[in-house]
Amino acid sequence: MLSQWLDEAPLAPQDEAPRLKGDIRADVCIIGGGYCGLWTALALKAREPSLDIVIVEKNRCGDGASGRNGGFVLSWWRSIAALKNVCSTEEAFRLAAASADCINEIADFCRAHAIDCDFRHDGWLWAATNQAQDGAWRSAIETLAGQQVHPFEQWPREKVAARTGSDRHLSGVFEPTAATVQPALLARGLRRVALAQGIRIFENSPMRRLQRARPARIVTAGGTVTADKVVIAMNAWATALAELRRSILVISSDVVATGAFPERLKSSGWADGMAISDSCTLVNYYRTTPDGRVIFGAGGGFLSYGNRVTEKFDGATPRAAEVAGYFQQTYPAFRDVGIASHWTGPIDRSLSGLPFFGRLGGRGDILYGLGFSGNGVGPTMLGGKILASLVLEASDQWSECGLVRDHGGQFPPEPMRYFGGNLVLAAKRRIEALDDQGLKPGFVTRTIAGLAPAGLTKVKG
Ligand SMILES: Cc1cc2nc3c(=O)[nH]c(=O)nc-3n(C[C@H](O)[C@H](O)[C@H](O)COP(=O)(O)OP(=O)(O)OC[C@H]3O[C@@H](n4cnc5c(N)ncnc54)[C@H](O)[C@@H]3O)c2cc1C
Repeated sequence: MLSQWLDEAPLAPQDEAPRLKGDIRADVCIIGGGYCGLWTALALKAREPSLDIVIVEKNRCGDGASGRNGGFVLSWWRSIAALKNVCSTEEAFRLAAASADCINEIADFCRAHAIDCDFRHDGWLWAATNQAQDGAWRSAIETLAGQQVHPFEQWPREKVAARTGSDRHLSGVFEPTAATVQPALLARGLRRVALAQGIRIFENSPMRRLQRARPARIVTAGGTVTADKVVIAMNAWATALAELRRSILVISSDVVATGAFPERLKSSGWADGMAISDSCTLVNYYRTTPDGRVIFGAGGGFLSYGNRVTEKFDGATPRAAEVAGYFQQTYPAFRDVGIASHWTGPIDRSLSGLPFFGRLGGRGDILYGLGFSGNGVGPTMLGGKILASLVLEASDQWSECGLVRDHGGQFPPEPMRYFGGNLVLAAKRRIEALDDQGLKPGFVTRTIAGLAPAGLTKVKG
């Protein structure tokens, strides 16, 4: 099982897409059929209906992170400081506003195309579950207020505890713009619309080689695609390409799902689809489903040597007991609620915590978009607009925005990345455990945790 979400979104045999066989040609070939690849294809079709677009997918569209995530559809308002680091203040606000608009656009798209993915527009709570986390949002809110932008509501402590269904939540701010979805149903829905619009999809056809000839050629076991433009939308798997290997950190995010207990959830006060994140660096994120289950995820999981997406990133999570422990700690009243399933998936963490888009080796015909850093459900739609503009060689607000930049920085080489990264993660976990007890970490722990690159520190204001 890749995720319970995907099990709930089966593809009927008649809906299977073919494997790539033989040598074909296309105007645009997109590698990777997750949200990023699918939104890019759909944005291109909307702008240039005559384009012949092919998607080449390793498994089936949505089987990657897009079919396994928490389903939080968030804006970039909370990441305003990170945005200001890569572009001007004016553009940072424009991009954050565009990311918030995408949430409504996704809702409209789903409505227009009858994609039933349990879209619930019930907002997101950015919460603190210990004193050390309190006010993690303060500087973001001050920066936003400086431009008269007020996307967050400050909630009193009693309301935070009442609405989350647990008094372990000490404080928090609420962003009504946010939503949740059943993520695999969204991915499968985009796939269906793409096929209906004439986008050719080849599944179970992993790219084995990207020939950097002119025009570029994608080689799979059964055939090749020669294309005028290539888009790499491979998320963490893009580390297989030498040019991108060090521009992201592949790290797991791990999820447990309970069985249904709707009545108890309702009487706890956590009665709607509000998504919640705490404010620790290795973030815990949780939401309910319409039938009354809890989906509880924890970021900052395991690394792999060489930054490869190994088999460990597929299927059941080795962190199930740890993540279930965080759930029980946050919701002691639900300690007796059993865990029905659990899974893992890879995150493509960039140094800035933001995605980046560009031209592989400076070539205008091979483009990439990755680094969504665990926040891609909403922002991949915006990424699709940026990649479409790059493919079409348009000079516009998307192709010229600050997220189009060279690789977005480099993580250290091996063995430093892997061993150093594990040391830093252990120190961060220790600090978070001490924070929960109201204790201060020692000098050594603080020093090691302080070595974290920006991509492993909190993306806060
Ligand atoms: C457990 C987990 C929880 C998350 N929770 C959230 C959340 O709540 N909210 C949020 O906004 N984000 C969340 N994310 C992140 C979000 O899922 C991603 O940012 C988003 O799905 C990225 O979309 P993508 O298309 O870039 O990647 P993917 O969906 O991973 O698509 C990449 C595709 O490329 C394919 N591929 C790889 N190699 C090849 C190859 N050689 N040839 C052909 N195809 C290939 C893969 O099979 C995959 O389908 C979470 C991620 C995980 C793993």
